[in-house]
Order: sequence, then structure tokens, then C-alpha cells
Amino acid sequence: MFDLTSRDIKYLPGVGPQRAAILNKELSVCSMHDLLYYFPYKYVDRSRLYYIHEIDGNMPYIQLKGEILSFETFGEGRQRRLVAHFSDDTGVVDLVWFQGIKYLSGRYKTHTKYIVFGKPTIFNGRINIAHPDIDPAEGLVLSDMGLQPYYNTTERMKRSGLNSHALGKLTSNLLALLKEPMPETLPEWLVKQHQLMSLDEALRNIHFPHTPESLRRAQYRLKFEELFYVQLNILRYAKDRARKYNGFIFSQVGDIFNTFYRHYLPFELTSAQKRVIKEIRRDMGSGRQMNRLLQGDVGSGKTLVALMSMLIALDNGYQTCLMAPTEILASQHYDTIRKLLGSMPVKVELLTGSVKGKKREAILRSLTLGETHILIGTHAVLEDTVCFSSLGMVVIDEQHRFGVAQRAKLWNKNTRPPHVLVMTATPIPRTLAMTLYGDLDVSVIDELPPGRKPIQTIHQFDNRRASLYASIRKQIQEGRQVYIVYPLIQESEKMDIKNLEEGYEHICAEFPEYKVSKVHGKMRPADKEAEMQRFVTGETQIMVATTVIEVGVNVPNASVMVIENAERFGLSQLHQLRGRVGRGADQSYCILVTGYKLSEDTRKRIQIMVDSNDGFEIAEADLKLRGPGDLEGTQQSGIAFDLRIADIARDGQLLQFVRDIAQAVVDGDPTESNPQNAILWTQLKMLRKTNINWSAIS
Ligand code: ADP
Ligand code: MG
Repeated sequence: MFDLTSRDIKYLPGVGPQRAAILNKELSVCSMHDLLYYFPYKYVDRSRLYYIHEIDGNMPYIQLKGEILSFETFGEGRQRRLVAHFSDDTGVVDLVWFQGIKYLSGRYKTHTKYIVFGKPTIFNGRINIAHPDIDPAEGLVLSDMGLQPYYNTTERMKRSGLNSHALGKLTSNLLALLKEPMPETLPEWLVKQHQLMSLDEALRNIHFPHTPESLRRAQYRLKFEELFYVQLNILRYAKDRARKYNGFIFSQVGDIFNTFYRHYLPFELTSAQKRVIKEIRRDMGSGRQMNRLLQGDVGSGKTLVALMSMLIALDNGYQTCLMAPTEILASQHYDTIRKLLGSMPVKVELLTGSVKGKKREAILRSLTLGETHILIGTHAVLEDTVCFSSLGMVVIDEQHRFGVAQRAKLWNKNTRPPHVLVMTATPIPRTLAMTLYGDLDVSVIDELPPGRKPIQTIHQFDNRRASLYASIRKQIQEGRQVYIVYPLIQESEKMDIKNLEEGYEHICAEFPEYKVSKVHGKMRPADKEAEMQRFVTGETQIMVATTVIEVGVNVPNASVMVIENAERFGLSQLHQLRGRVGRGADQSYCILVTGYKLSEDTRKRIQIMVDSNDGFEIAEADLKLRGPGDLEGTQQSGIAFDLRIADIARDGQLLQFVRDIAQAVVDGDPTESNPQNAILWTQLKMLRKTNINWSAIS
């Protein structure tokens, strides 16, 4: 048995140095092992043939047998296309190619029998199959084809003949080379207990399944293993850390907390806030270092929870720090918290990049002396010059904007790592949170403070602008303010979207009687802050912006959120944007403006927004529609997401299942010495070495 991980892919029959270079570059396939783990993304039953006269426009992939009658090319430049008229005696379809025309002409012959495979569509009354797969019919036995694997490939690969078909061929060459079964990567007891397919069988069947049932079992085995090791990694690491880092013990809730609670708290806490504060209190008193993720929809009152948790730290003689992703958010927190604390003897300071010179020195000094109790700031608080006398707890707002490395930096601000509370309004579905932040405990505020009027969401086509502007005007006349958001400016692409500049001029012309602010990501931070401030203070009535306003900004007087080209935003992002309004007592509106022509998918997504105000419901729906790769928060978190086969949206149940098994293994074999589990620890070590993202999970 040779070790496939150390076998360069170029030595596989049919590859060679040139194709190997392409496989490296395009798919990161470097070894034979990599190729074996490059799984098909779909399978198609190719045992059945259709006749052309049976085809309608709603069929999935189908297979035809016939001949090409003639070729034609149409159009010029980017419009150019090659058409082959293909017939099977019951009718004619057009096979169409938009790319690789030069390479294709000459490749297929007329009056030769081919099997054509693809998805038919009706275009101008004719049946089209774009970019079909074509195989010579001679020698092809349909019943042998079974489920045909399909592999993702890139344009560059296709140009070198490395299409899906070729990849299948290479994989089959590789499997033929394996004279002995692939060594098992799960312990025998686990395979037995859950009646899993062996690794060897699973790998063979994932590429070339004999039956749908064997495919299903192969998929189950491989998903099981993948999710299991992800969880084992996280849970084992969590256990290590629990052993390593004793937390500060905040044993008491004292005067500061109680005085605030009895005399300063301006409203009743919601029961969700109460529950979460209790959870946090328990964590911080347990002797274990707290690592808690606090999720709560926009407007659910996380700031108050953060403040009250910080007061517990103060009661126990420690300092605390609250970090926010932008200056404007940091200074809003500063103002809010100062106001809430009123005349209480708690010293709060604000530290951002723009605090300089003497003022800065004074803040740093009072921190070192332990005079400042609560430090609020941006990334500036991470700098080495910022030293606390006894930092005991840290709150990070809008966690998804910060990476793992930044969290680690805060840990090092005391000899023992402080308790950490990260807060986010980007609702991360539970399954995803478990995978991303496996060892963070999760608290959820699932209730809004009373008296909020739910935001009314309306879908409007962009040809009804007049009535849209009329409603905006009416709101402003009633003293409210309005956001108008455009998709990001992409100067390079001449897309027909109204970009921000145009939008701004348009709005200024439309509303000459009002003042309009404009904010986008390419402005200097200081200018941006200043412009935001003008809106916050009510100097301007309309804010035209890109998504830079999405996080946390609080302008209770703003009651209308208009989102232009809403179809271009992800659902979670739309929800975040919508959360900027509905913060005051007035009825608020979110207006989603789109073009008239929408795909089925887009229509569905917009409808979800209109129907639901629940961030978690929306996030789950988003995950289902888009897949986790695109989900906001995963990319910025610094933890890339590369599951080969499991799908977080669909395999949530399996994830939970294997997590329990992994937990039992970690608990039952704490010294990792049970010989029955030997495979697990070796395999885990190997995975941690080869998958850099894994070692970043904390
Ligand atoms: P977010 O969770 O989005 O950060 P905030 O903490 O900014 O939400 O709170 C939103 C608003 O709700 C603030 O104006 C805050 O004062 C108010 N609020 C928070 N908790 C309560 C409560 N229990 N009752 C009434 N209003 C509350
Ligand atoms: Mg907030």
C-alpha cells in the first residue's frame, strides 16, 4: 500500500507535469490523495434515453441519441455562438456553445452517432441544449453507465481537456491502481456501531456509485467522518483550554451592580435579557474562563447586557473593556453607557484612533493606575501601549468584524486571560455557530423590548418611484429621517445599477428642500464619521449610503429604510440594514426596491423579507438558499469554510449527532490512551497539520 498523500498527482497515468500544474492551480489537487477526495457535485442517471419529441422545457438533464446534421455559427465577438443541429428521427434540437468554439468545431463529425447529454431549454420556440456532453455512441453500454459523476471544473481546465469527464477518467485510473483497500480512518467500534460503509468502499462509491442506495451510504459515511473530526477537534481543544486557563472568579454581585439595577436602570429588563445576564454571571463565577457568544437580533438590547456584565466585573475589583468595530459605534456606546450610569462613581473612557496626544496619555495612565473602570474603544485598545492594571472582562461588539487573532490579543492583556463576551446581531444559525465557534457557549436574546412596532416591509418595483418619493416626503414632513441604501460601487463594472453617486445627485434634485448626507466605504474614515454625525444629530434628513451603515448605528428618529436594487443583497444583509430603523416609538418602514424582472429565487428571497422580521428565521432561509460559503460572517471571521462533502444547511442533524459522539469520546478517553481510539488521535493530528484553518479555531 503506498501513501497517497505523498504521491504527486503528475505520476498518475493520464496526468503528467502540464496537467498536474493546472490541477494544482485550479483545484489545489497536488497529490493522488487530493484527487481521490475531490468529490463529484452531482450524479445523473444515464441509463435512460429520451426521444426528441418527448422533450418539453421543464425537464432536468436528459440523454439523447442521434446525429449532427450540420453546424452554423451566429453573432460576433462576445455574442458569437456555435450551433449544431442534432436529430434522432423524431425531431431536431440545437446544441449551442458560447465558449471554446474554435476548439469544438472539428471535434465532432456529422453523420456519426453520438450520445448527447444536457439540460434542454426552449428558446425562440426551438429546443436548445447549451454546452452538452457528447460521447460517441459506439461501444457505449448504457446500463453500465449507472450514475454518472459530475465534477466541478474551471474554464481553464476545460481548455486543456480537463473537463468533468476527464476527471472521472483520472479518478477511475487511480482507483484501479489501488490493489489494497484504503486504510480505515475511523476506529472499528465506531464503524460497527453506526453501520458505516468502510472508507475504501465509500471512496469508490462516491465516485462511481452502483446504485442510489450505495451512493447514499457512501455520502453518509464521508459526511459522518468529516463532521465528526471537525467536532472532535473543537471539543478536544476546548477541553485543553478549560484545563489550561483558569478564569478569574467573580464570586459576588455587589454594590455597583445592585445600585445600577435598583436606581439607574431606566426600564424593566426583558426576560431574555435577565436570562442571559444570569448565564453570564454563572460563567464568570465558575472558575472557568468565559467564552460566550451573545446573539441577539438588532435592537434586542445587547448593550445593556454588556454593561450589566461589566458591572459584575467592577464589583469584583476588575477593569473591563468594550471593543467596537468603528469609531462611530464606539462613541455611541460611550455616550449610551455614560448616560445610563448617570452619577454613579464609575469612570468610563473612550479610546479610538483619533484620541491623540495629552488626552491619550492621560487615558493610558489612568488605565495603568486602575482608575479607569471601563474602557470603550475601537481596535486602538489592542495596541501594546494600552495596559490595564487588572483587566478581568472584555466585551467585543459585532464579533464577525474581528478575527481570531484580535481576540487572542485581548487575552494577553492580563496574566490570566479575561472573560470574553462577544456580541453579534448577525444571527448565525445554530448549526453554523457550532461549527465555527464550537467551544464558545452561545446565549441568545430572542425577545425584543416591549412597545416596539414591528417594521413594515414593502416590496416596490422601481417603476413606481413617484409614489415612493411621496411616502418619503411625508415621513420627513412628520419630522422623521430616511436612509437610502445602494449596492456597493464597483466602478470597473458597467452594470446597469444605479450607483451611489448617481443616486445621490438624483435624490438631491428630487428633494431640494432637504439636506442629504452621503457615506460610502471609499471615503476617509474621518470624513465618513463626520458625515454620519451630521445625520445622527439631525442636521441632514436623508442619508444616502452603501452598506457601511449596516452595523449597529443607532438613530432612533430614522423611520424609513429604502434599499435600492434589493435583489443584489443577501438576506442577512437586508435584515441588518432593516434593523437600522424601528428603534424609536414610531411606525417604521423598510422598502425593498427591485427591477420588475426577477428570478424565482429572488422573488422568494424578497418575500421572506416581507413576511418575516425574525433574524434567525431569515438566516436559516438564507443559508438554505445560498449555502454557508456566502453567508456573511463566515468569510470575515477569518475561519475559512471548506467542508468537502457535508453541507451545514442540510446536515445540521447529523452535525448534532456526531457532536454528541465526539463529546462522549473526549469525556470517556481523557488521556487519549485507549488503544481502541488510537486511529482517532493520529488522524486528528494529521488533519490539524494539513488543514490550517483547524488550528485557528478557538
Ligand atoms: P442591539 O442589541 O441592537 O445592540 P441596543 O442595545 O442598541 O440593541 O438596544 C436598542 C434599544 O433598545 C436601545 O435604545 C435601548 O435603550 C433599548 N432597550 C434595551 N433594553 C430595553 C428594555 N429592556 N426595555 C426597553 N428598551 C430597551
Ligand atoms: Mg448594538
